[in-house]
Parts: sequence; structure tokens; C-alpha cells
Amino acid sequence: MNLKTLTHTENYINDEHRYGAHNYHPLPVVLNRGEGIYVWDVEGKKYVDFLSAYSAVNQGHSNPKIINALTDQAQQLALTSRAFYNDKFSQFAKMATVQFGFDMMLPMNTGAEAVETAIKLARKWGYQKKGVSENQAEIVVCENNFHGRTTTIVSFSSDTVAQNDFGPFTPGFLRIPYNDPKALEKVLLERPNIVGFLVEPIQGEAGVNTPDDGYMRAVQELCNKNNVLFMADEIQTGIGRTGSLLAVCGNCSCESSCEQQPETYARPDVLILGKALGGGVYPVSAVLANKQIMEVFQPGEHGSTFGGNPVASAVGMASLSVIQDEKLTQNARRLGKIFRAQLNAFKSESNVLVDVRGRGLLNAILINDSSEGSLAWDICVGLKEKGLLAKPTHGNIIRFAPPLLINEDQLQSCIDMIIDTLREFDTIHK
Ligand SMILES: *Cc1c(COP(=O)(O)O)cnc(C)c1O
Repeated sequence: MNLKTLTHTENYINDEHRYGAHNYHPLPVVLNRGEGIYVWDVEGKKYVDFLSAYSAVNQGHSNPKIINALTDQAQQLALTSRAFYNDKFSQFAKMATVQFGFDMMLPMNTGAEAVETAIKLARKWGYQKKGVSENQAEIVVCENNFHGRTTTIVSFSSDTVAQNDFGPFTPGFLRIPYNDPKALEKVLLERPNIVGFLVEPIQGEAGVNTPDDGYMRAVQELCNKNNVLFMADEIQTGIGRTGSLLAVCGNCSCESSCEQQPETYARPDVLILGKALGGGVYPVSAVLANKQIMEVFQPGEHGSTFGGNPVASAVGMASLSVIQDEKLTQNARRLGKIFRAQLNAFKSESNVLVDVRGRGLLNAILINDSSEGSLAWDICVGLKEKGLLAKPTHGNIIRFAPPLLINEDQLQSCIDMIIDTLREFDTIHK
């Protein structure tokens, strides 16, 4: 008999392992409280959250303005379905369309549902407006994409782990290399039934794969020229994370869509948002487009019981307001530069740190190990001991994405923690 008393942490982990499906491999920390950039575990230890629920918590944990919107609305009216109008969705749609510069918005809940919506929109637009013949529409996507986990979305993944044993897959997708306008140009020339190009302005899950400046602009021009919808999946990159309201805005940090930087600025035809649109408290996603595109959806052709519900709408509005009112986009832009500058400076003296990349406060480091190795995991466990939570992606890459309301002093102490930890691994791996 095992007489060792288990800690709270071990008990929760054992129960989750026993009763929860094993579709994730979490870091061994059990959290029960969050506030701003901090979370606490069940033993009372405090951490800085450097993952922010994959950028869903841009506005910080339990942001009071967002929590108030959530609880006030939940007490007033939570769900009507869209069989009836409610007095919040129209206001949310108006605010989001003005802010992002589109005519119309279609609300959903999770990111994957919004991507599915964009795929259906592009196909229907292709048949009704572009004149593609029945069932011939094709959508171009990129190598190493991540757009969610539905059967259709994994159909065009290049990640074998995401695909294995989930077939048969949805046809009608073509994959080209990322950050390669020539490859897009070629496929658009060769195949007349292409209706859309679905792309992440920075590939988040692939390891913060940051394209060349001007890639999005080139994509926009090629799509326009070939009458193909440019569909930007900004579920992870959007809403201030990269130091612009949208990552497609390139180097522009103004608070709405604009043409300040014509060389790098781009404007998609279809914008997909999620994650931080729900302010870290509620699943809120949306697809935005202009009227000539969105009007192809008629009543009954697409929908969601929870999409656009009053709580989601109230939370969505509060989430967008917080980004603007607290100048989080500008903060992400400024602090991101500091973060990359210091880690890049350290890179020259490190064996373990190979590369630093990202934009705004969506950054990643590449660790000197194979993608099957455990070094990045061990570094994340080391960071956890010091009080910073981050998670490897694709084995040897660690993403760093704190809530955007982190201040410069807090960021500096986190940079110090990261560099100290990497130094310790440098001495082990000499
Ligand atoms: C997270 C993510 C999704 C999927 O969002 P879910 O809410 O998990 O369904 C889609 N695209 C990108 C780029 C993402 O980062």
C-alpha cells in the first residue's frame, strides 16, 4: 500500500487523468484563481501567465469591465436564440463592423465554428457570385496551418497527429507553402475554381511563424486580381496581440483599419475572429465581410443556437472596449520590441536558444533540440518552478504570449526569469 500523502496538485491531476479524456498533455500545474497577468495554483503559488489561453486572455484574467458585462447581462437576459431579436447583438455587430471596417458580421462561438463559417461563405460566394459550377469550388490553405479541430478543418491540416485516423476527409482544399506569394500566384493561375485563400497572418500554433513584411499585401493583390476571397484567420493574432489591431495591418498601430502603411498594410475580404473577442471569459467568435459577400447567406442556410447571444454580445463589446480604452495594442507593440531585443541579445551567448521570432506580444523561441526532444518541455517546467507559465508547441518551440496589460517592470522581471532559466540549461547542455 502506498502510504505517501498526495498533494492537492497530484490529486487533481490523477482525477483528471482518470476521468477526463487524454486529448491534452498539460504542464503539471493546477490553477484555481486568476487576476490580470497572474494565476495561482491550488497550493497557493503565484505565476505570470505567459500563454494567456492561446491569446484568448489578451485583456487579462477576470478583467473587471468584462466580468461586469458578463454578470450584468447574465442577470438581465442570457439566451434567446436568433429566432427572436435581442437588444445586444445589433449593438455588438455595429461596434465590431465599425472598428474593423466591414459591412456585416456573422457571430459564432468557437474559433473552429467561425472558420467553418468562412469556408461555407467562400463556397457559396463562389457558386453564386463567381459562377463556379456545382461542387467544384476549391479553397487554398497553407502548409503548417492551424484553423481548428472539426472534421473539415483537419481535412486540410498538414499535421499528421491532427489527421491520423480521422478520415475520410472533406475534399476541395489545396495546400501551398506559407509566406510564398509565387506559390499562390501559380495555383491561382492554374486552377479557375478557387474561391478563397485561407491564411493566418502569423502562424501561431506552427510556432509563431512570422512571414516577411509585405506577404499579406501581396496575398491581397493576388486574390483581388484573380477574384478569390482573401480570408484572414486572426483568431490568435487579432485584437491587439501583435501590436496592431489586426496582424494583417502590418506595422500600423492605429486603432482601426486604415491605409497608413501601404507597403505592408493589407485588408482581407473575410476576417475571422475568436479567442480574445470573448475577453477570456466566454466563447465569442465572428466572421466579418462586406455586404456583397455576406448577403449570400439567407435565412436557414447557416447558424448557431448560441451565436450572437446577449451574454456573448455584451462580453464581445466589453472585450473590444478594453483593448481600446487601456491602449493594449500600443502596449503590446512597445513591450514586444523590448522582449525580442533582450532575448536576441542573449541568443549570441546561448547554446540552448537558437531563434527568437514574433510581433508585438506574440513571440516564440526556438530551442536547440529536435522536435521529438524534451528540452523545451524541461525548460517550461523550469520556468514554472520560477513562477512563469508557458507551453512548448511542436516540441522544440516555446511560445511567449502574456496578457497585453503586462507593464514594463513586470515584463522585465519575466525576461530575467526566462534568461536565467535558459542559462541554467546552457550550463547543463555545454
Ligand atoms: C485557436 C485557433 C483556432 C480554433 O479556435 P477554437 O476556439 O479552439 O476552435 C483557429 N484558428 C487559429 C489561428 C487559432 O489560433
